[in-house]
Amino acid sequence: MQYDVIVIGSGPGGYVAAIRCAQLGLKTAMIEKYATFGGTCLNVGCIPSKALLDSSEHYHNATHTFAAHGIDVKEVKVNLKQMIKRKNEVVEQTTSGITFLMKKNKVDTYEGLGSFKDKNTIKIALTKGGEQEITGKNIIIATGSKPTVLPFLKTDGKRIITSTEALNLTEVPKHMILIGGGVIGLELGSVYARLGSEVTVVEFMDGIIPTMDKTLGKELQKSLAKLGMKFLLSHKVTGAEVKGKKVTVTADSLKGEKVVLEGDYCLVAVGRTAYTEGLGLENIGITVEERGKKITVDEHLETSVKGIYAIGDVIKGAMLAHKAEEEGTFVAEIIAGQKPHINYNLIPGVVYTWPEVASVGYTEEQLKEKGTKYKTGSFPFKASGRARASMDTDGLVKVLADAETDEILGVHMIGPRCADLIAEAVVAMEFRASAEDIGRISHAHPTFTESFKEAALAATANRAIHI
Ligand code: FAD
Ligand code: NAD
Repeated sequence: MQYDVIVIGSGPGGYVAAIRCAQLGLKTAMIEKYATFGGTCLNVGCIPSKALLDSSEHYHNATHTFAAHGIDVKEVKVNLKQMIKRKNEVVEQTTSGITFLMKKNKVDTYEGLGSFKDKNTIKIALTKGGEQEITGKNIIIATGSKPTVLPFLKTDGKRIITSTEALNLTEVPKHMILIGGGVIGLELGSVYARLGSEVTVVEFMDGIIPTMDKTLGKELQKSLAKLGMKFLLSHKVTGAEVKGKKVTVTADSLKGEKVVLEGDYCLVAVGRTAYTEGLGLENIGITVEERGKKITVDEHLETSVKGIYAIGDVIKGAMLAHKAEEEGTFVAEIIAGQKPHINYNLIPGVVYTWPEVASVGYTEEQLKEKGTKYKTGSFPFKASGRARASMDTDGLVKVLADAETDEILGVHMIGPRCADLIAEAVVAMEFRASAEDIGRISHAHPTFTESFKEAALAATANRAIHI
């Protein structure tokens, strides 16, 4: 079979690229080594983790906030088996949706491991047995990432686990030790803390979610501490050992003090590594970075070999589903001869804890480093009537604006529904709005969105109304 484009990998990067190519009239094929489409995100990432976050939040509310709302419930119990079953159903519905979209867009799909024979020929080791070769004028590598493994700490998939196993536990851990206070650790840690586990986070840096604006990590830590989560910051994990049902984790503080923790599960969430195994990149002379194993691409996301592109987690930049999707569309349009654009500075980052954390643009730390003069305006959710009505008063919205022009340079928020609230900030910044612009736009009352308007007013001329 001959194609205009062959996409290797069916994650949010790959399947979006395939659909956009087909929309642009290109004859397209997509290869996936697993039986279901959707990659990490749909199968063992974004979707299942959000399903469990929602279920565990219901349980937490039933046991912690219903009474204050005047709802008395007796005997609320966790049924983990049912929770996981519902999560699996959500995954199944979502991945089968991609199968439908492939058919609808007339994208040919192949189940098997794709590898380069030469720059235009892909050999597929078919799952059903045998081999098939297909050729493409253009190839898009969208093979994603896998959990980073610490060389001195082997995961056994039972007691020392990665996010994949943490989405399928058969019991609520008594004490879960989390290695890494990043996005995965805090989201999945929240799930089990809400279900009643003792959760201890061991983080190498001096704050959690260390790549985001520092205010957010500090606020989030306060909220998660209320949930009972414990934090061991500035500690480097040095090893873990399993004996029966017990895991012992050892860590060193920056001052060299040794700490020993005992739990029944240890979740390793120290980042993800680009995945290129079995692709046969060496057959066509594409090299990967020594650290991180990422494929090098130019500004058109083209690799060192003409006609071969790479997108998503397998290349530089944030490892986010929506970043991979933008790149999928971008490359399809490049191949079709268009002139697309991605504004990487405006790809939002979200942590789906409760309160939710969301961020776009520059952090205060980055602006200081760049030497940009900026103003800040903050608005706490405790001053929002809407937040009081729902008893979600933790957190704040912070707007950073250029000191001279008032253009919004960054928005950082933690609070109720911030995952959705951040979209307004992204739109505003794409259109290069000033803080005053936002302050002059009507926001429905009472909504959480008013907090963004108030923070913008505070940044513009310290003229927030409700603080
Ligand atoms: P992937 O989704 O990893 O897909 C790559 C696909 O390629 C896989 O299906 C793989 O099997 C296939 N493949 C690899 N090699 C071959 C080959 N040789 N032949 C055939 N097929 C191959 N991001 C967010 O934006 N929001 C979230 O809420 C979020 N939550 C997450 C939660 C967890 C627990 C995890 C682990 C990740 C989460 N992410 C989230 C990150 C997100 O999943 C990734 O950024 C995203 O999936 C990257 O998409 P991708 O298309 O680059 O690769
Ligand atoms: P991460 O990079 O977010 O966090 C890893 C953390 O582990 C860092 O804070 C790091 O300092 C710490 N660490 C590293 N080595 C350590 C050690 N030896 N001891 C103690 N701490 C150590 O990585 P992650 O949480 O594994 O997530 C992987 C990727 O998946 C991220 O890039 C993220 O963007 C993506 N993801 C996104 C979402 C979302 O968008 N909501 C959710 C989950 C995952």
